[in-house]
Amino acid sequence: MTAIITLDEIKARCEEVGDCWIWQGATSDTGYPIMKRGAGPCLLVRRVVAGIKGTPPAARQPVVVTCGEKCCCNPDHVRISTVKKVAEAAAKAGAYSSIDRCAKVAKARRTAPGAKLNEGKARDIRLSAKTSAALATEYGVSLSLIKSIRAGRAWKDYASPFAGLGARVQQGRTAA
Ligand SMILES: [Zn+2]
Repeated sequence: MTAIITLDEIKARCEEVGDCWIWQGATSDTGYPIMKRGAGPCLLVRRVVAGIKGTPPAARQPVVVTCGEKCCCNPDHVRISTVKKVAEAAAKAGAYSSIDRCAKVAKARRTAPGAKLNEGKARDIRLSAKTSAALATEYGVSLSLIKSIRAGRAWKDYASPFAGLGARVQQGRTAA
């Protein structure tokens, strides 16, 4: 364990905006406050705050803030959550309607003149036993596009009842 970090120390690195303590230090790739102590690993500041409050989160347990500010570290706003709760909150905040919107945007793009693929072809690509390279040649698209389709990132099947699931689970995962 690294040296003990205090709330004062964390607060000193934040700017108070209203009730929030907005982190002024480094952030992770996904935009969440991080700090480093000596030679120790990078720590997610909110997880540290939760630990100081006496409720250290378990390994994959999400820590959220009630104010919704991505960089807020105010211990009064920091809460330990569960993946399920994060998914529910995301749904309430419009994850479902955004799936709807994504489907509309995707439809417009997919029916644009010159589009090399269509939903049927995308489904064939997902189900095909051929290599991604072979499919890229066959459909005249890039290898990375084929890989994205197979990973479910591109050409999502919005007709599938599972279409929204990936995004919601991901929301849970990216919460610091
Ligand atoms: Zn806050």
